[in-house]
Amino acid sequence: MMATLLTARWVIGFNRGTHVVHEDGCVLVNGDRVAHVGALPNPLPDCTRIDYGEAILSPGFIDLDALSDLDTTVLGLDNFPGWQKGRVWPNSYVARPPYEMYTSEELAFQKRFAFAALIRNGITTALPIASLFYREWGETVAEFDDAADTAEALGLRAYLGPAYRTGGQVVDTNGAIRAIYDEPRGLAGLEDAAAYAARIDGRAQGRIRAMFAPDRIETCTPALLSRTAAIAFEMGAPVRQHCLQSQTELRLVREQHGVSPIRYLADNGALGPKWLLPHGTHATEADMALIRDAGAALVHCPLVLARHGSMLRSLPRWLDMGITVGMGTDTWPPDMISNMQLGLMTARIADGHTAIRSEALFDTATLGGARALGRDDIGRLVRGAKADITVIDLGKTLQTTDPVQTVMVSCSGRDVRDVWIDGRRVMADRIIPGIDEAADTARAQAQFMGLVEKYPDRTLGHPPVSQIFRPSYTREILDRHGS
Ligand SMILES: [Zn+2]
Repeated sequence: MMATLLTARWVIGFNRGTHVVHEDGCVLVNGDRVAHVGALPNPLPDCTRIDYGEAILSPGFIDLDALSDLDTTVLGLDNFPGWQKGRVWPNSYVARPPYEMYTSEELAFQKRFAFAALIRNGITTALPIASLFYREWGETVAEFDDAADTAEALGLRAYLGPAYRTGGQVVDTNGAIRAIYDEPRGLAGLEDAAAYAARIDGRAQGRIRAMFAPDRIETCTPALLSRTAAIAFEMGAPVRQHCLQSQTELRLVREQHGVSPIRYLADNGALGPKWLLPHGTHATEADMALIRDAGAALVHCPLVLARHGSMLRSLPRWLDMGITVGMGTDTWPPDMISNMQLGLMTARIADGHTAIRSEALFDTATLGGARALGRDDIGRLVRGAKADITVIDLGKTLQTTDPVQTVMVSCSGRDVRDVWIDGRRVMADRIIPGIDEAADTARAQAQFMGLVEKYPDRTLGHPPVSQIFRPSYTREILDRHGS
């Protein structure tokens, strides 16, 4: 295979443990690796050349909580409280019993749709996350076999594993939320996930790796936690678990176990390296010290937090304590650039203008994610690293003096032009081979409307759709025939 030389106005390289900026630099890609970064090699090897001009060659972004379904945030945006709006299962739905709101074909399509969207946003390594509200119980091995096929075909670097759980939350008619359990089902889900992990880990020349996804901490039984930890630590696979994200979670864990969620994890031997924790908004100093000392990682998802009126207090504090912090998109659009921008803004709202700089956010989306996964071959462009490269076009951008600061002010995911993963150009001029973006978007919208129609089934009191969701302005009926 012939090497490829990429050149651009800006290259984010790496030297002595930190990113560095090269102006008018290059990246030489050979096979799946970066062979050289910096000035043009002399003599120039025999290679293909691509000049991106006014652009940034950036390390690909690492998304530790990568949106992988049809996000329903828009339904909750102006409709609250969530427990009255189909965000918590009522007893009557549990009695029904719950059913899959999408067909297996639809679920397979959604992974393809989502993975393509991640690539379009310059995300080269992804750990998918999806909501279990719309599922009969957990995710299935069958859909993750489809997901592995899709990731392999599109060229995405992915850590995959079906989410499983021993419990869920239900809401009573008076709004009280409590936990319900089916531990045998959760443990069976874990055994399925472990068999899947052993089967797929290392697929696609190592691009596909296993991960474990026990759902939210408040409904994990001690057996599920300790067994997950034993299997995952033995394999060296990451575990992702939503944690410290709501008052309801803190209350449920305290009522059931008498401790904070992080202490509960630690008590069950479940807090350690590669244990990835979105969102951390309700962490105490003691929780943060436990996370740091265990070598676990925080997954920061500033966009979804801000939409719900919340933010991390605060990113500078977590970083100052030496805690590993990576980034997650977790919501639509899966735009890592806007998440970095919002992460900067919310950190400054929390701690003041001078508390953090742009490069700290750029680090979390690249080096922080790599460290969380225990890897030193991704998240950086340096000789010997994986050739995972996101090309950000600055051709329509003003005020470029420094590439990272310009990204933080002027860019969005839509400026990502090309993406390289494992040395393969998986997107060129925003085209991903085999993906028809317009057709897929229409198909996703149709599936989403099918889900909206089913909302009354799982909403408290089962009101019609028109009563669950309140539109922005009054919808005026148009006279189509003229009169
Ligand atoms: Zn989340």
